[in-house]
Amino acid sequence: MADSYLVEPDVGFIMEVSRLGGADLKKCFQCATCAVACPISPDTKPFPRKEMIAASWGLKDRLIGNGDVWLCHNCGDCSTLCPRGAQPGDVLAAVRAATVIEYATPKVVAKMVSDPKKLPILLAIPAVIFLVVGLLLKMVGVNWLNFAPTGDHLWQADYIGNYLVDIIMIPTFFGAVGVFALGLKRFLCDMHANAVKEGKTDKEKIDPVGFVQALIKTVPTILTHQKFNECSENRDRSTAHMMVLFSFIGLFIVTNCFFAAEWIFHIDGPYRQINPVKWLGNISGIALVIGGILLL
Ligand code: SF4
Ligand code: SF4
Repeated sequence: MADSYLVEPDVGFIMEVSRLGGADLKKCFQCATCAVACPISPDTKPFPRKEMIAASWGLKDRLIGNGDVWLCHNCGDCSTLCPRGAQPGDVLAAVRAATVIEYATPKVVAKMVSDPKKLPILLAIPAVIFLVVGLLLKMVGVNWLNFAPTGDHLWQADYIGNYLVDIIMIPTFFGAVGVFALGLKRFLCDMHANAVKEGKTDKEKIDPVGFVQALIKTVPTILTHQKFNECSENRDRSTAHMMVLFSFIGLFIVTNCFFAAEWIFHIDGPYRQINPVKWLGNISGIALVIGGILLL
C-alpha cells in the first residue's frame, strides 16, 4: 500500500508567499513545463513544479529548509514558458524571502525589509540610534561633532567623529555577524534534516569536513556565474549581478585594509590618491552603483 501523507495546509504561509511576490501561485495546474524549461533543474529531482504544489497547499515544512529553492537564481525562463502565468520564478523568490524571515532575528525587522512601505521606518532606526548615542556622548563630554574640519581633514567631510562611528558600527558589525551565523546554522540543520527525510543522506549530522569540501567546490561556479549564464530569458542580469558581487568583495577588502591601517598600524588618513587600496575602493564603488542601477 502506498504511504499516506496527511496534508496540513498553513494558510498563513500561503498568504505570506503571496504577499512576498508569489500572488499567482494558485494559477498553477501542474503541467510541469517549468521543471522541463529550467536550465539548472536536475533530472532526478526536478523543480520548480513540486515547489509550486507545496506552496499552493501551504506546506511550509517542505519549503522552508528546502535546498532546491536556493538553487534557483530567478532567471525567469520558467515564468516565460508557464502556460498559466503562475510565475514560478517569482514564487520561488517569495519562498526564499519567507525563508529569510523565518530564520532572521528579530523577525519584525526582517518583515520590514521585505515591505517597501516600511522603508522610511528602516531608515529612521539608524538615524535615531546615531542621534541618541551622539547625545549621550555629548552628555559625558565627548565632542563627536566637528562641523569645521581643518588642515589635512578639510577635504574629508570629517564631520562625524570616530567615537560615534566606532561605538555604533563595531557592535553592529559583530551583532550582524552573530545573528547571521545563528540563522545560517538553524537553516543548514533544517536543510540536512530534510535531506535525511528524503533519503539523500544517511548521516544524522552534518559532516563538517564534507561540508567545507562541498562549499569550496561551489566557489568557482559562484565567481564565474556559470549557472547564471545558462539562462536564456535574463542572461544579461548576470553581468549586473557580477558587478555587485565583486564590488562588495572589493569594498570588504578596502574596509579591512583601512581598518588595519588605522587601528593596528596607526597610519592615519588622509591616504594618497595613488594608493592602490583607494583605487580598489573607487572602482568597487562605481561598479556597485552601475551594477545596482542595472539590476533595478
Ligand atoms: S507553474 Fe506553470 S509551468 Fe509550472 S507546473 Fe504550474 S502551470 Fe505548469
Ligand atoms: S527562475 Fe530560472 S532557475 Fe529558477 S526555477 Fe525558473 S527556470 Fe529555474
